[in-house]
Amino acid sequence: MAVLVTSSPLGGRFCEPASAFLRPDRVEAYSGGIRFDRDRPRGVEYHVKLSLKSHKELKMSKHVYFFGNGKADGKESMKNLLGGKGANLAEMAGHRDLRLPVPPGFTITTEVCSYYYRHRQSYPRELRGQVTAALGRVEKLLGKRFGDAGNPLLVSVRSGARRSMPGMMETVLNVGLTERTIAGLIARTNNPRFAYDAYRRLIMMYSDVAMEKVDIALGRREEPADGQGIRKLLDNRLAEMKAARGCRSDTELKADDLRTLIDDFKRMVKETLGRDFPDDPQEQLWGGIGAVFASWNGKRAVEYRRIERIPDEWGTAVNVQAMVFGNMGDDCATGVAFTRNPGSGENRFYGEYLVNAQGEDVVAGIRTPAPVNEYSKNAQSEKLPTLEKLMPAVYRQLDDIQRRLERHYRDMQDIEFTIENGKLFMLQCRTGKRNGVAAVRMAMDMLREKLIDERTALERVAPGQLVELMLPVIEAKAEAAAGVIARGLPAGPGAAKGRAVFTSEEAVAWAGRGEKVILVREETSPEDVDGMHKAQAILTSKGGMTSHAALVARGWGKCCIVGSPDIEIAEDGKSFVTPKGAAVKEGDWITLNGTRGTVYAGALALVDPDLAANESYKKLMKLVDKHKRLAVRTNADTPRDTQKAVAFGAEGIGLFRTEHMFYGEGSDEPLFLLRKMIMSEGEPERRAALSELFPFVKRDVKATMEALEGRPLTIRLIDPPLHEFVPHSEDKLEELAQELKIPLAEVRKRGEDLKESNPMLGHRGVRLGITYPEITEMQVRAIFEAAGELLREGKKAFPEIMVPVTCAVSELDHQKVIVERVHAEVCGRLQLKRIPHLYGTMIEIPRAALTANRMAATAAFFSYGTNDLTQMGFGFSRDDIGGFLPDYLRQKILPVDPFQTIDQEGIGELIRIGIERGRAARRRLHGDHLKIGICGEHGGDPESVKFCHRVGMDYVSCSPFRVPISRLAAAQAALADGPGKKKRARRK
Ligand code: ADP
Ligand code: MG
Ligand code: MG
Repeated sequence: MAVLVTSSPLGGRFCEPASAFLRPDRVEAYSGGIRFDRDRPRGVEYHVKLSLKSHKELKMSKHVYFFGNGKADGKESMKNLLGGKGANLAEMAGHRDLRLPVPPGFTITTEVCSYYYRHRQSYPRELRGQVTAALGRVEKLLGKRFGDAGNPLLVSVRSGARRSMPGMMETVLNVGLTERTIAGLIARTNNPRFAYDAYRRLIMMYSDVAMEKVDIALGRREEPADGQGIRKLLDNRLAEMKAARGCRSDTELKADDLRTLIDDFKRMVKETLGRDFPDDPQEQLWGGIGAVFASWNGKRAVEYRRIERIPDEWGTAVNVQAMVFGNMGDDCATGVAFTRNPGSGENRFYGEYLVNAQGEDVVAGIRTPAPVNEYSKNAQSEKLPTLEKLMPAVYRQLDDIQRRLERHYRDMQDIEFTIENGKLFMLQCRTGKRNGVAAVRMAMDMLREKLIDERTALERVAPGQLVELMLPVIEAKAEAAAGVIARGLPAGPGAAKGRAVFTSEEAVAWAGRGEKVILVREETSPEDVDGMHKAQAILTSKGGMTSHAALVARGWGKCCIVGSPDIEIAEDGKSFVTPKGAAVKEGDWITLNGTRGTVYAGALALVDPDLAANESYKKLMKLVDKHKRLAVRTNADTPRDTQKAVAFGAEGIGLFRTEHMFYGEGSDEPLFLLRKMIMSEGEPERRAALSELFPFVKRDVKATMEALEGRPLTIRLIDPPLHEFVPHSEDKLEELAQELKIPLAEVRKRGEDLKESNPMLGHRGVRLGITYPEITEMQVRAIFEAAGELLREGKKAFPEIMVPVTCAVSELDHQKVIVERVHAEVCGRLQLKRIPHLYGTMIEIPRAALTANRMAATAAFFSYGTNDLTQMGFGFSRDDIGGFLPDYLRQKILPVDPFQTIDQEGIGELIRIGIERGRAARRRLHGDHLKIGICGEHGGDPESVKFCHRVGMDYVSCSPFRVPISRLAAAQAALADGPGKKKRARRK
């Protein structure tokens, strides 16, 4: 039985195991924001929404939604049911403000896809009748019949999920063409060459997608060896034919050649796949529909969903749509365009097209596409005629449509169009992918244009996208000095360097060894996504700004250059040469400037850009500050990082780690003194060592405090187990022995004595301060003297002394005595009445959270150390999760890595309890507000920041580069509260 936690008619919360009444087709179960359908891990609590449709209801429901001729059953808001493509086709065709020229067709719902997977690849009984009826409507509209020998209707069968997965699933064009119907197509078009070309395309696509790939997906066939797939075999045959006829492009082949090819293709399909290409329109239609559903679980679609975190349960819809032809002659064309420039965000219509071509040709990057207008020209397409010049009337109509579409959707649209004999058809529109720079610019421009309101503008930018505005660029001098070895189209901005690799597999393998790589390909295909994901950047020799590589890179915000004609990849596919004679082999370093589209040999120096010069960014951040309630601080321990973070908008430091000075640059001397202190025996020896260390601590604290100009500085007293600092090398031990004037063996023994079997749970944090109060005293003195001196110099300072790894208020009381005594001493010496400061603690042990009411009696602030709190709350050693966490995630035992995003159910509950109890006690005992923040890695994770807002924290703290991200996330969280909520008073 399922353990029901709460329940209501529309849902509730429950816990597996076994849930007879919770049938997968009746519920949507969520845990941690992730939807689970069938494979629900046990012992996890789920929030459940009962779906409104029972199994029986589903059987009676509408599976097919018609669109065309100014009418549509569906609309944009029905994306979940119709998929993005289907919903937008319906909107474009049927919305009264649009009614655009969309070839008529219909959409089979995503529910049918779920049915298909739950019922061994079969369909609800009613589907066939509904499809026939919808097809009948299309036939009537166009005066053609599907399968008719005289005037045949041809259709495309297109995939389309809720969220676009560019090129990941299958589409079959020209369905309905057979030996019988081709005669009609020839007669109607008077163009046998075109008809045969359409037929050979159908055979190529269909045999690949609806025969071979479906067989593989259903386990009826093994994956073919490389180059042995049917598509490749037919491609080879086509290439042979072209070579034999001396043709350079497909379009030069004559009708007779194509006829011969078709017969060859059919024979090869039979030989390779063991059955005939179906020369029957109905069989093709249903084969195509099945292929689209099967492609939802194709290898690359599954891979893409994993990367993009798209639930497997969503399924795809199928769109069946009357074909229009961009390849019937020179008054035909097909293209892809954006209502604004997706690379820069500029408000200009931007697009590419190909004359006499069919659909996929633009996206596949086989020919260099031409620009739709002057604005869309680039180095490669400069000389090609624009659509505006070539077909002015059609261009004006397209321009008008793109304007209307953007006004209608109030967002940048990515559109597909085809021109058949001078007549324009819209085949797709969707919200266009854009990089971070463009996202910020578009949001601010559209706000100014009054297309969207402030809230929408803030929501248009995903916090993580801001990283792209801080993308490195090549150091100017280095770039000027280096010669450009190749130029291409700037498809993804920023700069990147890495070692050249030439296949997706190599990219994955090299990256797996910790190497930075740049993936170099002629063009990319969906099979390459894994390698593209792992690479620092992507470089292709073919394809345009709308090619697969460009689209994917833009979606990920990755540096990318496409269509570089200078790059010729060698036969062996392990090197390339350029016309000027530069040669790059596998493993050689190259550097890309993705903003300009230039390639350099070697590894050039990269630097960070000047955010202050980005006007749109500044406007966005102003808006962020207007709406957010949470303060955002940074984790920093040097003046340099502090200044950087303050420039990014940090409002203080939430975590300054005293021990930082013992690592990295310039750490030799303080580290030696620390070691001396650690190896000392007895208080006098230790105090002597500490007083030598003191000036270093004070210097660091003071410099950072000064950089903060009065913003609060939370300093954590020394935290790690001392054994971490014991030297391992003989000469360092020897040096210590001499300094301490004791034998080497004794030093070694003292080091050994510090060893612990569980150091993370051992002698660390406040425990050090309890056993060695003089360590606390030295640090506190350094802090107060630094602050006091700044005050005396007329500057500002506000230290917050933070005690780590506490579990009981008595620890805090113990340390507080030292803090107060030192405070009084320093004030006396510097003749100050008081040095303003706070005394508080980190909350990182579950017991501390649970006893927050007691902790708050002494602590004036809490800072959640969620790294340790997660470690101790889960009982997962942070250093050892590599062994099991990947399995946990793969098997969905846990929905997400709790070290990346706060686990709201468990750790979040500890946080909530701590806040509630702590705040209440503080108010009762001291009448003041307990300041609460977070300083774990989670402070830079947008989801976690939103959680921190909801539980009422005062601030989050994150690394300097994450500050803008957390600020935006904080504003989005505040907006999610709704306009009615009053801003909570903010306190420093
Ligand atoms: P994807 O999601 O991979 O873009 P699509 O379903 O959009 O796949 O189709 C692939 C290509 O085929 C696109 O260029 C599209 O414009 C073209 N296409 C699809 N349906 C038709 C049609 N009915 N007539 C003409 N071209 C079509
Ligand atoms: Mg498309
Ligand atoms: Mg910690």
